[in-house]
Amino acid sequence: MTQPFHVRIEDLKWRDAELPNHGDRVSARADAAGKAFFLETFGCQMNDHDSERVAGLLLSRGYREVETPEAASLILYNTCSIREKAAQKVFSRLGEYREKQSEGKVIGVLGCVAQQEGEEIFKRAPWVSLVCGSASYRKLPEMLAQLEAGNQRVTGLDTDTDETFETEVTRRDNPWRAYLTIIEGCDKACSYCVVPFTRGPERSRASDPILREVRQLAALGYSEVQLLGQTVNSYADPTARKMRFSELLLAVAEVPGIRRVRFTTSHPSDFTPDIVEAIEQQPKICDHVHLPVQSGSTRVLRAMQRTYSRQGYLEKIAMMRGANRPIAITTDIIVGFPGETESEFEQTLSLLNEVQYDSMYSFKYSPRPNTLSLSMSDSISEEEKSRRLGVLQNRQREIQAAKNARLVGSHFEILVSGKSRRDNQWSGYTTSHRMINFASQERALLGTYVQVRVTGASPNSLVGEHAA
Ligand code: SAM
Ligand code: SF4
Repeated sequence: MTQPFHVRIEDLKWRDAELPNHGDRVSARADAAGKAFFLETFGCQMNDHDSERVAGLLLSRGYREVETPEAASLILYNTCSIREKAAQKVFSRLGEYREKQSEGKVIGVLGCVAQQEGEEIFKRAPWVSLVCGSASYRKLPEMLAQLEAGNQRVTGLDTDTDETFETEVTRRDNPWRAYLTIIEGCDKACSYCVVPFTRGPERSRASDPILREVRQLAALGYSEVQLLGQTVNSYADPTARKMRFSELLLAVAEVPGIRRVRFTTSHPSDFTPDIVEAIEQQPKICDHVHLPVQSGSTRVLRAMQRTYSRQGYLEKIAMMRGANRPIAITTDIIVGFPGETESEFEQTLSLLNEVQYDSMYSFKYSPRPNTLSLSMSDSISEEEKSRRLGVLQNRQREIQAAKNARLVGSHFEILVSGKSRRDNQWSGYTTSHRMINFASQERALLGTYVQVRVTGASPNSLVGEHAA
């Protein structure tokens, strides 16, 4: 998989000692005497953020967060089942903790594997006592109380809920950029995808609490917010205000103190002109759209039930390319979907040439439980899927190398979010989500916005120098 200008939350964990003031509130709550939890997260940004909220919920109830399972009395895994490999990883990790239950520790599985496998987890890993899918996180304190009251096993597996997961406290991993889920679940029915089964139906949060949370974040010193949803742009305000997604973007950008608004992931079918107009009109809305295409072949898209054609997708791209502000476009692609012919795969390659993405995530098709495509013959061999993936990634690498080379000499504003062990080396992201490593003699740049001049480029990142 090409790893473009993507930031992994694991890279952004800050020890309390490194945090500027507003991190203190986290440790203050964690000081409360009580049980200790260890929480490990697999998967997407939505899982990362769910874990931040689960951690907040536990901290607000007197639990303390620790960095190793050994130091914890409660061990939680927030899991991903989007591809088979991800799900297998969870069971192998659970296997490592088989002995822990006999030491009196409670082991729990959260997230997509929990929802997908349900009580089967107790059979495969009898040392697990808690299984809870994302639609039931609000019940976690109740479930933990049941365990403390002597119940051996508890489950939270409902998905038929209208509620979203609201918490009073969120323990955020990054002191400057805050994730905020605005829509949970998914009502699309892509034939390869487990998400509608693991995260339940689409539920949008009301606009008022979203904006209230953004104001609180700004007051705490966060200057960048990233609105999250599996199909973030399908947002439908459930209140009488009926804010459209583009109106919500504009309202978030207007909150004093907020300098950047990101959003991911957008679904092409719901990507409407007013979103591009909002980006054009409001510079605080980042000039980056992640618009997964999945395939360049209309036949394959139909078999995937993606609800748009190659032509329809290219019209959305043309709409962005016509904007009066350049917009970086990134995508997701699946190779080796059942029945994908060589010429259909080549249509995906030609789509890369045509769109000139700024980066791409690419995956080999993986058959998943409950999905429609499971009944289609997974006819393409692993070897052939790997070959296609390699060809695709090479093509994209060439595109990124050429695009990034053209940026040498340009100036970007970046939010500094990383400092390397080597003196004077820093890193951060542009609004278009390009990562730049740069040199500066300054001492305290973390969390600040600086101008950087690009002096060199590679396919996945840029290097530069602090510009006055
Ligand atoms: N909601 C987003 C969308 O519609 O594009 C994507 C959500 S999914 C968590 C992230 C990516 O995983 C998808 O865009 C797709 O490329 C990939 N993916 C999902 N199911 C897959 C499967 N069964 N096999 C391989 N890749 C898969
Ligand atoms: Fe899965 Fe499709 Fe929903 Fe994305 S839009 S989460 S790929 S079902």
